[in-house]
Amino acid sequence: MIIDLHTHTRLSDGEFTIAEHLRRAETQGYYYVAVTDHVDQSNVEGVIAKVIVGCESFNKHSTTLKALPGIEITHVHPNEIFPIAKFAREKGIKIVAVHGETIAESVFPGTNHAAIMANVDFLAHPGIISEEDVLLAKERNVRLEITCRKGHALSNGRVFSLAKKYGTKMLLNSDTHAANDFYTIDRYKKTALGAGMSEDEFEILVKDIREFVVSKFN
Ligand SMILES: [Zn+2]
Ligand SMILES: [Zn+2]
Repeated sequence: MIIDLHTHTRLSDGEFTIAEHLRRAETQGYYYVAVTDHVDQSNVEGVIAKVIVGCESFNKHSTTLKALPGIEITHVHPNEIFPIAKFAREKGIKIVAVHGETIAESVFPGTNHAAIMANVDFLAHPGIISEEDVLLAKERNVRLEITCRKGHALSNGRVFSLAKKYGTKMLLNSDTHAANDFYTIDRYKKTALGAGMSEDEFEILVKDIREFVVSKFN
């Protein structure tokens, strides 16, 4: 059962319309996919409306894949994260992510902390996250992402080792933007092992993600 809670469509910088994006995931054996396009203050309202329509329309006809409408709050000032997250939830968004302090881009310092304080669902590619924030993420039930995306993936080892040390929950996501980004389970596994997980730890993580998503969205 492949579950991915971080993917992009043409609503931001992904390649496909929502319908094609989800159809591709469905034919590749995915069971749950969140569509989490990039938002800031300028486009959040329009993206929310469109992603909800796109996911609901898809879900009417799919018997295997459930699409979850989401957003990824991206490159906004840390002080703006909470109000945007709150607005999105009120409008019916199921998965709220924040584009964390990846070492591949100059994200505002303080973004990781603000995302955790805003109780978002997960913090994407958190880069050189502090130990204090990893502990805080555990306490506030915010998952940390292990990512398959090049560049962002460079800090997976740190994220996994600190999440393991403090018992913070994780997700394993593709951050799909284009045709070849929907993976087989083997590709997710290689990313996990590359981050330092054992085979057992990978299996436990997959089971934990499945339980989290199925219990929340079934
Ligand atoms: Zn992107
Ligand atoms: Zn993303």
